Amino acid sequence: MTRPVIVVGASMGGLRAAETLRKSGYEGRLVVIGDEPHAPYNRPPLSKEVLAEQVDHAAVAFPLSEVLDDVEWVLGNAVVSADLDTQSVTLADGQVLDYSCLIIATGLRPRRLDLPGKPNSGAHAIRTLDDAMALRAELKQGAKVVVYGAGFIGCEAAATATKLGASVTVVGRGPVPMLRPLGQQLAEDIQRRHEAHGVRFVMNTFLTEILGEEKVTGVVLDNGETLECDVLIESIGSLPNTEFLEGNDIDIESGVHVNSTLHALRKDGTPWSNVYAIGDVARFPIPQFDPTTRRVEHWNIPTEMARKVGKQVALQLGEDLEAHATELAKNFAPIPSFWSDQFEVSLLAYGLLDQGEDVRLLEGEVGGECIYGYFKGDDMVGVCGIGMRSKVMGYRNKVGIAAS
Ligand SMILES: Cc1cc2nc3c(=O)[nH]c(=O)nc-3n(C[C@H](O)[C@H](O)[C@H](O)COP(=O)(O)OP(=O)(O)OC[C@H]3O[C@@H](n4cnc5c(N)ncnc54)[C@H](O)[C@@H]3O)c2cc1C
Repeated sequence: MTRPVIVVGASMGGLRAAETLRKSGYEGRLVVIGDEPHAPYNRPPLSKEVLAEQVDHAAVAFPLSEVLDDVEWVLGNAVVSADLDTQSVTLADGQVLDYSCLIIATGLRPRRLDLPGKPNSGAHAIRTLDDAMALRAELKQGAKVVVYGAGFIGCEAAATATKLGASVTVVGRGPVPMLRPLGQQLAEDIQRRHEAHGVRFVMNTFLTEILGEEKVTGVVLDNGETLECDVLIESIGSLPNTEFLEGNDIDIESGVHVNSTLHALRKDGTPWSNVYAIGDVARFPIPQFDPTTRRVEHWNIPTEMARKVGKQVALQLGEDLEAHATELAKNFAPIPSFWSDQFEVSLLAYGLLDQGEDVRLLEGEVGGECIYGYFKGDDMVGVCGIGMRSKVMGYRNKVGIAAS
């Protein structure tokens, strides 16, 4: 029997890869394996609508187009190891499946606090639908919530919990929330808007202790302050899901290292011809900014990577060698993009904002709708707006480093 294409990770990246394989003419066996019990669903609502409203899987599930009708979905079953030399993966239930091509789309998991004496319940992270539903059950009117970590997901959860009537304190290590991605001016602006809604920020600090026997009752900060809480939301970054690849000659330092055709790389930098990585788990170059490789944990990236890989694999396994070579000659060069909704603030951004050395207000006014540009020398490396959506979109094509 011919070996299937195997996609590990049944979320957005895995789904879009499967769709593109079929739409690009691949008719062979296609197996998508996911460790969650759910069919692919959209994650951004998890810190927004799923926390705020009584929604279930159906409300966030991605529609499955008919091109996927004969895809073999293996859900609720993790890939626990892979052998890239013999081209096989082993599942948690003991099945061993051989593959022709392997597409890794395993995303990230939340980094969790590992403090001695941490109670069994009351501490949450938000990555999966089940995480969000478990948290939602505790976000009652009057709940005392501490959000540890002042990045996007932490701030979105803080806004949603406040809207539900919880009393929310955000504890962060930096001086202002979302400093690295947004820069000082915009970050301060958004902090003020949160504070206007009653969110308290305790910044430049970290947790030293979580109080409570069975359930969280409070946290202690490094300045000695104790904050009472019933719910602790840990939002302190993510780790790539690459453990199943250990033992292979593959560079999985801080994500699966891929080249500009999204082939996974060996430790010496040579590519595996039939192993790819896409989405949050991939660490890749973005040539129009700099030679550095990085993970980009934004929604547009899994789909753009999946479209490239799906097409490449379909051509690789098909007969048209010339079309395959043409596709391979196209380097992956996305413009990263994200949005974030927090209270009335609707952020939209393009580029790599954290590369900006000089942040300038381009349009509008601080405190209202506005657009900031992020510059490295004369080059605009990022743009971010509060509101003014169509104008922000107009800057998209101006973002990037001019070729010298
Ligand atoms: C709460 C939240 C809010 C977000 N909000 C925004 C937003 O507002 N704007 C924005 O731009 N982006 C947002 N994002 C980011 C966006 O959702 C991600 O970039 C996107 O989901 C990544 O897709 P992915 O397919 O690469 O990985 P994931 O969606 O993480 O999917 C990976 C899948 O693989 C599974 N898996 C892992 N290991 C294995 C294994 N060994 N075997 C089998 N399966 C495995 C995982 O359980 C998961 O189901 C948000 C993310 C989260 C978590």
